[in-house]
Amino acid sequence: MSKRNFIINAFMQKCPRCQEGDLFIKPFEISKPVNMPVNCPVCNQKYEPEPGFYYGSMFLSYIFSAFFFLGIMGLCLIVFKMSLNASMGVLLLTAALTYLFFLRMSRSIWINLMVKYDPKAKESKEVKSFGY
Ligand SMILES: [Zn+2]
Repeated sequence: MSKRNFIINAFMQKCPRCQEGDLFIKPFEISKPVNMPVNCPVCNQKYEPEPGFYYGSMFLSYIFSAFFFLGIMGLCLIVFKMSLNASMGVLLLTAALTYLFFLRMSRSIWINLMVKYDPKAKESKEVKSFGY
């Protein structure tokens, strides 16, 4: 399999090293929204290479959600001419519905930024933290 663009791979929520293993455990449990396996089931890439690894993904999540919600508020107030209270209601509903998406996407993008693709990862099965 040829190398996939890391942005597409992040959106598919796949392991950055082998691009085949799932980053999150399926089916989804509401009590564990970011339930990830310890290692990739295909290539053994560690999904938490160091303690606090996903701290940085919090900033990504903030950036994405802030601009998204700003757009939602702008759409409600300017385009649809809704009242401020109604717009806040739409915003809260949208935030509740997209919370999991932004949380998982920020983690997926973060690990895809930090770990390189390795075409031989599937055969080697060596446990690695950052892929180098
Ligand atoms: Zn993998």
